[in-house]
Amino acid sequence: MNECIFCKIINKEIPTDFLYEDDLVVAFKDICPIIPVHLLIIPKAHIASIADLQDKDEALVGRLIMVAKKLGQEFGIAENGYKLLFRVGRHGGQEVPHIHLHLLGGARLSENIRPI
Ligand code: AMP
Ligand code: ZN
Repeated sequence: MNECIFCKIINKEIPTDFLYEDDLVVAFKDICPIIPVHLLIIPKAHIASIADLQDKDEALVGRLIMVAKKLGQEFGIAENGYKLLFRVGRHGGQEVPHIHLHLLGGARLSENIRPI
């Protein structure tokens, strides 16, 4: 049985409003937003992290970013800008082991990237 929380969202076992859906990806609001616009864009296929991508996934990665661009425009944050974030593995702070692209906008973001 697949216990992945994002696979459950894709399979509609966890009811979630999709802001976008196509053959490869879906997008929805982060349940715990850290900024006014905090969306997640994820592949429908279960791929644990960017580190697990294969050459055949190149178009999928492009799709994730193009959907982020489209949603940035739709949510009115494209003009002021936003941040796109992939966390990868333990050092990257990734908590959900299913690739997800964070789209973060609606306020200025601090960098605050340093070792802990
Ligand atoms: P990361 O730390 O990069 O792995 O981010 C995982 C993100 O998934 C966090 O920002 C969580 O708030 C978000 N998240 C976890 N469960 C859900 C859910 N059921 N629906 C929407 N977002 C979720
Ligand atoms: Zn999954």
